[in-house]
Amino acid sequence: MRKQIAAANWKMNCTLQQANDLLDGLIKENISISPDREVIVAVPFPYLMMAKEKLKNSIGFKVAAQNCYTKFSSAFTGEVSAAMLESIAVDYVIIGHSERREIFGEDNKMLAQKVDACLSNNLKPIFCCGEPLQIRENETQNEYVETQIKEGLFHLQSDKMENFVVAYEPIWAIGTGKTATAEQAQEMQQHIRNVFKEKYGEAIAQSISILYGGSVKASNAKEIFSKPDVDGGLVGGASLIVAEFASIIKSLK
Ligand code: PEP
Repeated sequence: MRKQIAAANWKMNCTLQQANDLLDGLIKENISISPDREVIVAVPFPYLMMAKEKLKNSIGFKVAAQNCYTKFSSAFTGEVSAAMLESIAVDYVIIGHSERREIFGEDNKMLAQKVDACLSNNLKPIFCCGEPLQIRENETQNEYVETQIKEGLFHLQSDKMENFVVAYEPIWAIGTGKTATAEQAQEMQQHIRNVFKEKYGEAIAQSISILYGGSVKASNAKEIFSKPDVDGGLVGGASLIVAEFASIIKSLK
């Protein structure tokens, strides 16, 4: 059975003190995570080791980086490799967040390489996809997201398919307060699962956790997560508030 996941994306937020307080606050909530669920906290690079240390006794809590580079090592000033992340026992890496795609020009070809870098270093990618507003308005979002999935992931052999998570994040809903309806999320995520099914078969498609992201908060999480193809959420703004994120975790099915 695929996992239900609440993933926090802190983005470029928090000083060291704030990061400490946020993690301590989350631990203090003492939320018990059953084996069919997972909580992932994607913190900025400087706080990864601290997050690993603080969460080491919190069952079901995992730590993610928000990015990595395609290459193993060498002269790439300012970049962080998957090998470095593996060496500090990071669990997941967010790959292809729309902010990386839009602001830093990361395309599907580069993201496919980042996925490979992660998988060959025992890191699980959280592969993000999602359409901009204009594509939604033109009603071509299904084709758009399908291309992202195919170009980013379809070079993988079947045996790698259990090692990543997909996050569908319509760009028009990220950080805007404008959430996709639960029906819109379900419709797209069913489509994504069908795209996997056509290539890899029913069993593999059913085993992939597909998260929804885009202005998820305590007040809408339960309804969105209740949909059959929505296996939890990737949460930005609301993950920076302990009570909000705790409530989102408790909204997982
Ligand atoms: C995100 O950063 O992935 C995200 C979905 O942000 P927000 O929840 O703030 O819309």
